[in-house]
Amino acid sequence: MTFAIHGLTVSRGIAIGRAVLVASSRADVAHYFIEPHEVESEINRVRAGRAAVIDEIHRLQANVAHMGPKETSHELGALLDVHLMLLQDTEISGGVKHWITDRLYNAEWAVTTQLEIIGRHFDDMEDEYLRERKADVEQIAERVLRAMKGTASAIAATAPRAARKTSQQDLLLDDTVDVPLVLIAHDLSPADMLQFKQSVFAGFITDVGGKTSHTAIVARSMDIPAVVGARSASQLVRQDDWVIIDGDAGVMIVDPSPIILAEYGFKQRQGDLERGRLSRLLHTPAVTMDGEKVLLLANIEMPEDANAALKAGALGVGLFRSEFLFMGRQNNLPDEEEQYHAYRRAVEGMQGLPVTIRTVDVGADKPLDNSTRDNSHLNPALGLRAIRWSLADPAMFLTQLRAILRAAAHGKVNLLVPMLAHASEIRQTLAHVQQARAQLDQKGLVYGPVKLGAMIEIPAAALSVKYFLKHFDYLSIGTNDLIQYTLAIDRADESVAHLYDPLHPAVLRLVSETIAESIAQGKEVTVCGEMAGDISLTRLLLGMGLRTFSMHPAQILAVKQEILRADTTRLAPWAKRVCAADDPAQEMTTAARGHRTA
Ligand code: PEP
Ligand code: MG
Repeated sequence: MTFAIHGLTVSRGIAIGRAVLVASSRADVAHYFIEPHEVESEINRVRAGRAAVIDEIHRLQANVAHMGPKETSHELGALLDVHLMLLQDTEISGGVKHWITDRLYNAEWAVTTQLEIIGRHFDDMEDEYLRERKADVEQIAERVLRAMKGTASAIAATAPRAARKTSQQDLLLDDTVDVPLVLIAHDLSPADMLQFKQSVFAGFITDVGGKTSHTAIVARSMDIPAVVGARSASQLVRQDDWVIIDGDAGVMIVDPSPIILAEYGFKQRQGDLERGRLSRLLHTPAVTMDGEKVLLLANIEMPEDANAALKAGALGVGLFRSEFLFMGRQNNLPDEEEQYHAYRRAVEGMQGLPVTIRTVDVGADKPLDNSTRDNSHLNPALGLRAIRWSLADPAMFLTQLRAILRAAAHGKVNLLVPMLAHASEIRQTLAHVQQARAQLDQKGLVYGPVKLGAMIEIPAAALSVKYFLKHFDYLSIGTNDLIQYTLAIDRADESVAHLYDPLHPAVLRLVSETIAESIAQGKEVTVCGEMAGDISLTRLLLGMGLRTFSMHPAQILAVKQEILRADTTRLAPWAKRVCAADDPAQEMTTAARGHRTA
């Protein structure tokens, strides 16, 4: 039966495919397609993993009699029997084989998919004892996955393959070959998301998350349709259901009828055509109708993203979120050499164009690894995050600064510092940069010049912008956090997402005054939060005087199209009216209807 689930729009477009449910804890297994000739070896890997676990259990059974009091050993023995039984269960092994043979999933993916299905059977059981056996299934699956780690297939070491695309026509005719896949999860951390970045999925849905949560930001950077905050999606959808993600409307349609499928197939083709039209703007300079030049930069998460930035026509990187190099590493943080090479790859990848590297911004909804996520008793967005984290660990901070300074010897680098609010933080930060230079001098290592910039993303910073401008070469407005902190709305919490409003008069005032003050002092100012890539806000930002925008590569051409159609001489007075209005959103639409804008 067809039904729809509503969430928040994250990334535009339509995706049609089969649902793949992924539990966040298992998101770190590799997901890729194998070739038909690899089916046998993947099945053998599962068999070997299972055999290793069975051996392990037999060994344990032999020892169980000597383990503590009689009742305990009896209980343990019974538990091991259940585990053995599950390992020999034909529904489980048959299911895993099906995913490998018929869907060409790699072995780990097949195991986790089948686990998800069996887990749901257990959830539906009346009997509490039986329901609790789900944990046993999970344990044996984890054991098998662990045992398989040693037998990773040769292909697992290579980059995951892209999903083989099919036309809508093929989908309707034959759904067993090369079907696009849509990932559905309760929650995914930004690091999990990064895992999927070059993976097989054609779209994403998560139950939780706000529009500017970091998970959503990474999903957006993948340029595939995505919806977050879809509440119970992962409960309502079953593994392998047909689903449509309408990223424009923030809706997922489950089990669509042929008519709905055909309609969305049409929409999908329209979207492809629109993208084709936009691509003609690739080499067109971003200049407004009245001749104002605008600089369009890219936000990236990994050095390899430089390629996508260049392909999208970005004239530099306005925000390299360096924290993604630090995530999911179980406290084994990258050392100076590793960081230096990563930054250098990004700098060289941009072929002479500037790269703005932001110092690490972990904390809040960007934990270093998933095990540190359980901080629900704290208020992580207000805690030890970004520059506060860096200043709390000077050795780590200096390591990063040295790596960035060294990378600056290979191209134009701007250094950007997140979450500053206090004069003391500014002083300490600048002193650390000096110290990092001195350490490099001492070691005789080559480094280059950097422009120093501060992010304006805390209201206190926006209100002290004159002070910031005394100490920094440029400013970059992080509207995602600026909105979060101005309105006291957790950006990752879907239950307050309706209150997260870039057009709140207070937000507009902080943004416009930061831009105006920077211009007055002849300093560069950028917006690098999600507002910069939102085409409904391009004219407003231009009207405020903004001339540098940094966004995901996928948004650049659509924003450029807005710029080409704009006349800043008319937008400036209009933007003033919008910012001064009690209801700026209303003022924007009224003005547009009355054709008073450019
Ligand atoms: C912002 O806060 O707007 C920003 C660009 O930084 P991040 O989204 O990484 O917090
Ligand atoms: Mg921020």
